Amino acid sequence: MTGHLAPWAASPEATRPRLRGRQRCDVAVVGAGLTGLSTAFELLSAAPRLRVVVLEADRVAAGASGRGTGLLGPRVGPALHVARRRFGDETARAVHLWSVAAVRHVLDLVERERLACDLTPGGQLVVARDEREAEHQLREREAALMLGLPPDQVEFVGQGRLPRYADRYRSGLRYGPAATLDPAALTEQLAGAGERLGLVIHENSRVRRVRRGLLSTVVTDGGELIADHVVLAVNAYGGSLRAAPSGVLPVRVQAGVTPKLSGEQLAELAGLDAEPLIEHGEVAPYFRLTTDGRLVIGGGALERGAHGALARHPGRLLTAARALSPALAGISLDAAWAGPVAVTRDGLPVLGEHRDDPWLHHATGCNGHGLAISVYHGARLARRITGEDTGPDGLPWLRARAPWLPRGRVADRVVDRYLEHLAAADAPFGSARTAVAVSGSPAPWTETPS
Ligand SMILES: Cc1cc2nc3c(=O)[nH]c(=O)nc-3n(C[C@H](O)[C@H](O)[C@H](O)COP(=O)(O)OP(=O)(O)OC[C@H]3O[C@@H](n4cnc5c(N)ncnc54)[C@H](O)[C@@H]3O)c2cc1C
Repeated sequence: MTGHLAPWAASPEATRPRLRGRQRCDVAVVGAGLTGLSTAFELLSAAPRLRVVVLEADRVAAGASGRGTGLLGPRVGPALHVARRRFGDETARAVHLWSVAAVRHVLDLVERERLACDLTPGGQLVVARDEREAEHQLREREAALMLGLPPDQVEFVGQGRLPRYADRYRSGLRYGPAATLDPAALTEQLAGAGERLGLVIHENSRVRRVRRGLLSTVVTDGGELIADHVVLAVNAYGGSLRAAPSGVLPVRVQAGVTPKLSGEQLAELAGLDAEPLIEHGEVAPYFRLTTDGRLVIGGGALERGAHGALARHPGRLLTAARALSPALAGISLDAAWAGPVAVTRDGLPVLGEHRDDPWLHHATGCNGHGLAISVYHGARLARRITGEDTGPDGLPWLRARAPWLPRGRVADRVVDRYLEHLAAADAPFGSARTAVAVSGSPAPWTETPS
């Protein structure tokens, strides 16, 4: 286990210097999460003489990348049968294969660069809880067949073939290739790999604005960075930057982790170490095991806004963990936390350039599923900057902004109600009223015992 970098462990202090004074570089990257650091790393791998500087408001991995649950898997945007209807078969197939390529890119990168992040290859099992969800899974199987996707990428698993701990579910869809990893460790390792190539990272350097011109000037409280290209890799935090693409809604999601499980408990969950379990549904729980035998649980609550690291409903995470197996009936949580994801109305990311400025690049909108996508987006942005990526390839999210979203107080209230509704609809979370004792984790976003 990579230990101290996991989201439930003590968050390291920022150690890299702030930006001071006026400086010049070729590419200024805003945001030291997986998107920004992957962009910087790939740029320097392709063109070692470039001067690349990352400006981070807080510290490396302070955002979603340091708080993720570590499920690396394919899929992007709507379900396959919806994608077929919306985009047509050719694009729906290309979109899915792109997401498979994104996973493979991360697997290759981790192996090639020896990034220590507890990578455990396997699959991903999405399970249906009732007849309606099982029908949805059959439609997905049908769509995968129509698109000609290989069976090791999307496989229907009937009830009798589900793992023992999951035999109460109606059916499953197994997705591959996939893996689990410690995303905080991956992010920090990527920062280190970039620094070995000459990358400069300034922490505690919040970008206040981007002045566009012949060259762009990125302005922080302590300094200015003049750059040929600027990459906005701020994920759900784009609201305060006018240059960031519009149509991106910041939403906080939550997760938690148990203490190390006993040998008996782990035996009851045999198979979960290689294949996380994801219940069907927007806010439904999902589970994975860490390499040191803890259960990570995600889901259960959605809240509007990017800021705030406390899990508001840790009781829902605990209820879900206890419902997973009778062996977990007395389990507690060691920590619970929240982090921001960037949501778009059509469920698709946003990758590209500002509509009036081809030198101002962005990537965001991974809709909570961005572990593979963010890293792959970084590689893509690097190719766009070096000129290797020349033309459109039919992906529906190469665009200047996401579809319009209403804004203002009334719109916010509607979104709040909708997010509450989604969480309430997802059993077992909806009925959860468990008071949780969270046994003190040093992470600053750990929920205090209630
Ligand atoms: C609880 C949780 C669980 C998740 N689990 C999974 C999962 O299992 N699988 C999966 O695929 N995805 C998961 N995700 C989503 C995934 O973590 C994200 O899609 C991905 O990490 C986004 O990376 P990023 O670099 O775009 O954004 P971030 O990691 O959020 O990085 C953005 C960075 O920009 C910085 N920043 C913002 N504004 C400024 C500014 N003005 N100036 C300078 N810096 C700025 C922030 O401090 C931050 O460090 C999860 C997310 C959360 C929150």
